[in-house]
Amino acid sequence: MKKSNVYLYPTTEDRNCAETALEVFLTVQSGTSRLAMLGALKGILKKYRLSKLNLVNCTVEFSGSDLAIKPKRFIKDRTCPGCKEDLYSIKSKVRILSICEGSFSDIVTYGCQCGEIFGKVESPQ
Ligand SMILES: [Zn+2]
Repeated sequence: MKKSNVYLYPTTEDRNCAETALEVFLTVQSGTSRLAMLGALKGILKKYRLSKLNLVNCTVEFSGSDLAIKPKRFIKDRTCPGCKEDLYSIKSKVRILSICEGSFSDIVTYGCQCGEIFGKVESPQ
């Protein structure tokens, strides 16, 4: 059996940094914090030459030069599984983190101010 390659594994510090960047964006929800989050995540992926980074609530991976944030759990209804916030209300505390377009439906990754990250399959009406 071929021995698998040894990859450098992100330090706890760098993993915490990625988690914090996500957390800050979910709390603050500003355009600047989104850019800072994406910058931090890209920086860590590049530092370790990773195509994918496994975090607590999601995985982050490169799709081309863009970053895709993929959820670990999916919901079917329209509320956050953590705090029951409505996804689609005008003042919703839920933000779209990432959209993965498919031919029949899209997988949308949502992040809520309470810290939950979850996905939903959204079909065009
Ligand atoms: Zn929530």
